[in-house]
Amino acid sequence: MAAGSAPPRVTTHRFFLPPASFSAGQVQFSQEASHQIVRVLRLRPHDEVIALDGTGLEYVVRLEELQPIVIGDISEGRANQAEPQTHVTLHLGMLKAAKLELVLQKGTEIGVSRFVPMLTERSVAAEPGAARQRRFDTIVREAAEQCGRGRIPEVGTPLPLSDALTQVTGQKILLWEDERGTGLGDLPLDAGAPVDLFVGPEGGFSPTEVALARDAGATPVSLGRRILRAETAAMVAAALVLAGVADLGGDLQARPEP
Ligand code: SAM
Repeated sequence: MAAGSAPPRVTTHRFFLPPASFSAGQVQFSQEASHQIVRVLRLRPHDEVIALDGTGLEYVVRLEELQPIVIGDISEGRANQAEPQTHVTLHLGMLKAAKLELVLQKGTEIGVSRFVPMLTERSVAAEPGAARQRRFDTIVREAAEQCGRGRIPEVGTPLPLSDALTQVTGQKILLWEDERGTGLGDLPLDAGAPVDLFVGPEGGFSPTEVALARDAGATPVSLGRRILRAETAAMVAAALVLAGVADLGGDLQARPEP
């Protein structure tokens, strides 16, 4: 390092990159990540960042070349410590784009592993086109980078409720504001066992859909006497489930030091 040049910095800037970017102890950053590193973050040679291959592994990377594309040397590889132990899928009645994007961002921070927009009787929002779907993928990737996750949650293409109910294997929980017997907090949850949460659109689920869900083995539950907006109910339910399995605000001792 040249005399008088600034010392290297260890940063927590994180970048999900395709697996092909990692080879022979080196990482080649994408055009987009290179632009972020050089033009936005103004990082310098020998600064360190975190690169993730999306499988749950993360790598400490020392930047070597910044032009024309950023290339760095891997100094350490390790398992990410922030991935939820319980796989929560959030099936959400189609919402207007801005509300859906809010749930994608906050749900990723909370620890949701998969999002499935659903076509229901009372859905008002249109199905997203390819550009919108790509934007959803960017939102969950950036949220996963920001909150320190080791995987990018999947955002599925919209499915009718009936298909969504039959395609899942986890514990099916239907959020229903008219449920008076069972609260979400009353349900036994097994840490590590997958959970599928079903949240209605703004207009809620129809009685036919509630019956269909029951027949498919879903348990209707209440979140309490207040009627929450669909986006709020989605985030609250995901947080309560992950807290219920000690993955949110839970037993940090169980998790190794970061
Ligand atoms: N149909 C209702 C209405 O328009 O008066 C409200 C629907 S609510 C805005 C949208 C979705 O959020 C519901 O389908 C349900 O999944 C969920 N939700 C909202 N409040 C809830 C509560 N207190 N208990 C359980 N689910 C709730």
